[in-house]
Amino acid sequence: MPWDEIAGQERAVRLMRRALARNQLHHAYLLVGPEGVGKELFARLAAQAANCEAGEADARPCGVCGACAAILRGTFPDVFWTRPQSELVKRGLVNKGDLENTPSREIRVDEVRQLARRLAFSLVRGRRKIAIIAPAETLNERAQNALLKTLEEPPPDTTFFLITSQPDELLPTVRSRCARLMLAPLAQELIAAQLQKRGVAALEAQAKAESADGSLARALEMSAEELSRRSELAARIEAALAAPDERDALDLAEGLAERDTAAELIEVLRERARTTLVSIAHEGGGRDAAPLLREYDLCGEVAAALERNGNPRLQLERVLLGARAIRSRSRPTTSSAQASTGAVHGR
Ligand SMILES: [Zn+2]
Repeated sequence: MPWDEIAGQERAVRLMRRALARNQLHHAYLLVGPEGVGKELFARLAAQAANCEAGEADARPCGVCGACAAILRGTFPDVFWTRPQSELVKRGLVNKGDLENTPSREIRVDEVRQLARRLAFSLVRGRRKIAIIAPAETLNERAQNALLKTLEEPPPDTTFFLITSQPDELLPTVRSRCARLMLAPLAQELIAAQLQKRGVAALEAQAKAESADGSLARALEMSAEELSRRSELAARIEAALAAPDERDALDLAEGLAERDTAAELIEVLRERARTTLVSIAHEGGGRDAAPLLREYDLCGEVAAALERNGNPRLQLERVLLGARAIRSRSRPTTSSAQASTGAVHGR
């Protein structure tokens, strides 16, 4: 059953199927979500549902009719994928030797104009033209402005899907022309289950799911080495955060100040905050999410600072000491007497 191919996106799937069943598709959707959660699959399933020849109820594509099969192969004349050249080469859709220059990592204005020209024709075979731009943040500024013109005067019977993990990279004018559909990061249990479905052993599946940042694609490509490096790193971070004084955290920052490792430490810490947040959201149980959110946000800020060429050691100290402070403030105190004794000893 095609919609079952996509896991963990019940809300977005429900919204899309309702729009399809009522024949009320928007002219353009911004499909937003982290890498590897099924955004392209979602767009392909929507294209199949919009053009399936079997006529099943509830916008359910049959997956086997001529239209569904051609859309899966990428040969359906009313479904258009636009990707940067570098991505086409990577997927083996274009031969590097056939290009005059190095394959571009951007989607350029010519490519958007070509898409607009093709969309101006009437339907060839299906019921709705679907234009999928992936990833949309690779549209350069001129290309975005050209796309904006098309979005402002949309061709008839056409729906755009702009796929992105970085919506802020798009011009506000482009974003505001699109209905936003959020695809959620995947829960760990779901990633683990999907890995097991693909033949990964249960323990390994669980470990990969824990390090995958909510991305099934990431979990699938994770190697055993990477996995053990990350779990070792996670253990060192937790030990430094739980240590009685700050020395361990400062030592860890100094030891890992090389840039790649610094980024990885922040990612591991952020991932742990994120997965705990997801499990709180799934399980409920009254646990306070605010400190975890602060820790998650702190990791995001520090990662951004590091990317802007911040000093790795200072940024590591900032994130580790910051996380220690957040955790010590949120640690439950058993009684006020004990808390005040602790404070006296601490000064
Ligand atoms: Zn079909």
